[in-house]
Amino acid sequence: MKIKDIYKKKNIVFSCEVFPPKPEDNIETIYNTISELKEISPDFVSVTCSADGGTKKRTLQISSKIKNEYKLDSLMHLTCINTKYDDILEILDEARKMGIENILALRGDIPPHHLSSPLKGEERVRGNVTSDFRYAADLVDFIKKNTDFCVGVAGYPEVHPESPDSNLDIKYLKSKIDKGADFIITQLFFKNEYFYRFLDRIRSAGINVPVSVGIMPVFKAKLIKKIVTLCGATISPELQNLIDKYGHKPLDMEKSGIEYATNQIYDLLNQGINGIHIYTMNKAHLAKEIFKNINLK
Ligand code: FAD
Repeated sequence: MKIKDIYKKKNIVFSCEVFPPKPEDNIETIYNTISELKEISPDFVSVTCSADGGTKKRTLQISSKIKNEYKLDSLMHLTCINTKYDDILEILDEARKMGIENILALRGDIPPHHLSSPLKGEERVRGNVTSDFRYAADLVDFIKKNTDFCVGVAGYPEVHPESPDSNLDIKYLKSKIDKGADFIITQLFFKNEYFYRFLDRIRSAGINVPVSVGIMPVFKAKLIKKIVTLCGATISPELQNLIDKYGHKPLDMEKSGIEYATNQIYDLLNQGINGIHIYTMNKAHLAKEIFKNINLK
């Protein structure tokens, strides 16, 4: 089913994100995660893809299996940095043949060697990459003009780390919607106030598509530090206290991370969200615990 139609049917859409195992690892390991997630029947499962496109085939294969064997709707992430029109057409054609109906259209993160390049501004971002796409909006436009996929895009409650300011960030988010994107999934955040401000601002800017909030249960102190450095999310003082207290006790950290995420969601459920998207980090039990706690009807 197209995800835009799931939003029409359900009050709150519950979804989970997984990532493909590394190329050198057995792909089958991900199916243990999917089997476990199947027990809570998420409305859809999304599958990430590496920015350099290295996992595209695996992303496709896993998205197809989620849809055709596990009978769950899937959302295939697709990055466009360093990509040509023909590569995208080819992968979309394969996806269509496999019955995949939903794509999350992303630019992808700029490889670190470009960020440390002596080039300036736009040249630094693009480096010597020969890409037919500059921004995710170009990919949305291309998909919508050439195919019938339902398309989601990324939104940033705390502003995208490369963005000079939040006004421009929202303007560029709107350009993805104006090109035809059907829904938004947000970057993870740990303080709901950022999301509420973001939601007010996008609605005022005329962005009226459904928005799912990205929630990551913190289960490992070290990992979360790495993740927030990459995505620019702020760790709230309450969460920092938990990390200080339980960072060296893995089981306690996980338990309090689930509790923190659950409380975040309780608060969000009263504030006009359309969906909850759990960044599972391939740990299905985290999503299952949260799902059980929030008891969605
Ligand atoms: P864009 O929307 O193109 O924005 C990128 C930057 O360019 C922003 O700063 C924006 O403000 C700016 N910008 C946009 N348009 C213009 C313009 N016309 N002129 C000037 N500036 C402009 N990464 C992966 O590699 N694989 C994944 O599977 C993946 N999944 C994700 C899922 C979600 C839900 C989210 C929130 C992020 C995900 N990411 C993933 C990370 C994402 O690829 C990065 O955040 C990336 O840096 C930006 O991608 P985007 O699609 O938001 O880009």
